[in-house]
Amino acid sequence: MALIVQKYGGTSVGTPERIKNVARRVAKFKAQGHDIVVVVSAMSGETNRLIALAKEIQTNPDPRELDVIVSTGEQVTIGLLAMALKEAGVDAKSYTGGQVKILTDSTHTKARIQSIDDDAMRADLNAGRVVIVAGFQGVDPEGNITTLGRGGSDTSGVALAAALKADECQIYTDVDGVYTTDPRVVPEAKKLKTITFEEMLEMASLGSKVLQIRSVEFAGKYNVKLRVLSSFQEEGEGTLITFEEDPNMEKPVVSGIAFNRDEARINVTGVPDKPGIAYQILGPVSDANIDVDMIIQNVGKDGTTDFSFTVPKPDLARTIKVLEGVQAHIGAAQIDGDDKICKISIVGVGMRSHVGVAATMFRTLAEEGINIQMISTSEIKISVIVDEKYLELAVRVLHKAFGLDKG
Ligand code: ASP
Ligand code: MG
Repeated sequence: MALIVQKYGGTSVGTPERIKNVARRVAKFKAQGHDIVVVVSAMSGETNRLIALAKEIQTNPDPRELDVIVSTGEQVTIGLLAMALKEAGVDAKSYTGGQVKILTDSTHTKARIQSIDDDAMRADLNAGRVVIVAGFQGVDPEGNITTLGRGGSDTSGVALAAALKADECQIYTDVDGVYTTDPRVVPEAKKLKTITFEEMLEMASLGSKVLQIRSVEFAGKYNVKLRVLSSFQEEGEGTLITFEEDPNMEKPVVSGIAFNRDEARINVTGVPDKPGIAYQILGPVSDANIDVDMIIQNVGKDGTTDFSFTVPKPDLARTIKVLEGVQAHIGAAQIDGDDKICKISIVGVGMRSHVGVAATMFRTLAEEGINIQMISTSEIKISVIVDEKYLELAVRVLHKAFGLDKG
């Protein structure tokens, strides 16, 4: 008998019929003797609908009130699922984040979980009930409703698993696991049986949307055994996120390819090559709360240098404005931006012990005539920025070049 936290995403609870299906699955685990805590998202499309509704009243919705509004999506699904379980003859009880309570800081729309009270949930589990908790939401010390950022139910699930010291956290979604790359781009993409926690963290931060990155960080920090599975398949092991590499298993050099169409590139050219210049450029950008991702500074020549970095696409215009404000002070010749780019990354812990991975990547892209605009590397990943029109082609040829289609 185990304590299992199961998280069901929006598509898995998208219709009453699907909610009944989830209830059947939960009942099956329950019948096997397990203790089950279920975390649910809002029905698919609901959070978007609520945000749009709020924006019809206020173009820039008040963050506190927006949280009051969007948290209702999950409040509906917990009630519906509890009813569906009761209909299936399983005793169940629903909790909002505040009722649990899932205490967060007060950063509305992207709050962080600080602690979780497990008393009420334990009492229900001991009484033989299935506990259903609203994902995505919590409550701050003043009692305000908070939400955890888009995709935040994953983090709710993992955080609950950590707090309850659950044996496993199962994330049920519309795909049956983590793939070598997005199967919509490469139909030959293969499902991974396991992926290391570090690789998953890279994949999530590089644009694979299977798990919210914060949930992966949480799992790493608290050693939560995390598994991604499909809610539409009866059987299947999904993908297990592992902490240790199995020494007996021959690891592929590259485990997966992630991509991200959501970044834009900024170039600051002809800046004086002197100490403090990176800070003078990026300081104001960070003060404006804009996330900077890849950064490249060239070796200076004739006293000046070029500086490039990427920011989220929606922040491009704002970043340029911020930089134009300090352009004279920095002494930069030119500032320009390009949002027709994408980032493609190959990820794998096997890279640590293999040489020539970068060369293979660059040769593969060169053979297709794809120009690389920026490169960045870490121990287990190599990312490149290329023209967005090459995204599909680049991912496809890289997937093949690293043998990922062979499984
Ligand atoms: N319902 C929220 C969203 O759509 C949270 C989640 O589904 O994880 O972002
Ligand atoms: Mg999700």
